[in-house]
Amino acid sequence: MSRYWSDVVHGLTPYTPGEQVQMPGLVKLNTNENPYGPSPRAVAAMQAAVGDQLRKYSDPGNAAVKDAVARRYGLAREQVFVGNSSDEVLAHTFQALLKHALPLLCPDISYSFYPTYCSLYGIEAVQVPLNERYEIDVADYNRPCGAIIIANPNAPTGIGLPLERIEALVAAHPDQVVVIDEAYVDFGGQSAIALLGRYDNLLVIQTLSKSRSLAGLRVGYAVGHPDLIAGLERVKNSFNCYPLGQVAQAGAVAAIDDAAYMEQTSQAIIATRAWLIAQMQALGFDVLPSQANFIFARHPGHDAAQLAAGLRERAILVRHFKQLRIDQFLRISIGTDGECAQLVDALKALLPAV
Ligand SMILES: *Cc1c(COP(=O)(O)O)cnc(C)c1O
Repeated sequence: MSRYWSDVVHGLTPYTPGEQVQMPGLVKLNTNENPYGPSPRAVAAMQAAVGDQLRKYSDPGNAAVKDAVARRYGLAREQVFVGNSSDEVLAHTFQALLKHALPLLCPDISYSFYPTYCSLYGIEAVQVPLNERYEIDVADYNRPCGAIIIANPNAPTGIGLPLERIEALVAAHPDQVVVIDEAYVDFGGQSAIALLGRYDNLLVIQTLSKSRSLAGLRVGYAVGHPDLIAGLERVKNSFNCYPLGQVAQAGAVAAIDDAAYMEQTSQAIIATRAWLIAQMQALGFDVLPSQANFIFARHPGHDAAQLAAGLRERAILVRHFKQLRIDQFLRISIGTDGECAQLVDALKALLPAV
């Protein structure tokens, strides 16, 4: 607390990120990082971007990154916005597109940065409960609102909605912006980008942090109607004209262009996920159906916080949320086969003891 703070600062509830601890031999399954590392082509492109040219400012329009996204998804450059992480793209989206007289709708259990942005920008939000299977039911969003945001697949449940459900949501709200946060879509979800040609109220946000294994580079993007993108550009250029440096731009272009590498590593994660789910079920866990690079699981006979603490003693980090309805679940990122086998061995040792 400081008497020098602006009033708005006193009212903020900042987001709490998963821990980034450094420990030899640590199995880090708590922040949904990708175990396979970025495309070698992206690494080479970034190395080539380090040099004397860094004395100049980067391209404020992010044209090369926009064109890479446009190429990949069959869009025009004017349909693409690029930011320094999808968290930043989300922040600009909340400010530019989601603050209206009527409340914003979002799921009660979802990415916990959404309420944080609402408090930062003074946006009134109504949290719509997930159904009893922890799914988003789009019929529950048929109520007066100023805008809607959901994650698909949702976090931290991992459950994805099929494209026709997303389309029903977008079609039911022609006068509101509907934002779909697709941070995990490449691990088996269906992207709403396919709907962009038909709906001018749809904005889809993706990140290079998960399926492109570039969480440390901080690049995200949004795609949608040029009018939505122009609104985001106005906010961005009132905040920071150069959010991406030259190295990030070069790495992002190469990573997006190397679709084969992303697909191959995502398939490996999907295969490991199926193996881990089967192992966890054999140990008595309930595991929600996941289309993400993590699973959300609970054990009917064991407390989640105690399990997380026991794993931590064995140098395995998973995420536990002290939040109503989900405080008996663990969110476990899919690591390599070896890391997931270590997790299963640790759970086998732990379960009789807890
Ligand atoms: C990880 C994640 C993001 C943030 O991604 P960054 O680009 O690393 O900021 C956004 N939304 C959801 C749902 C996520 O899980």
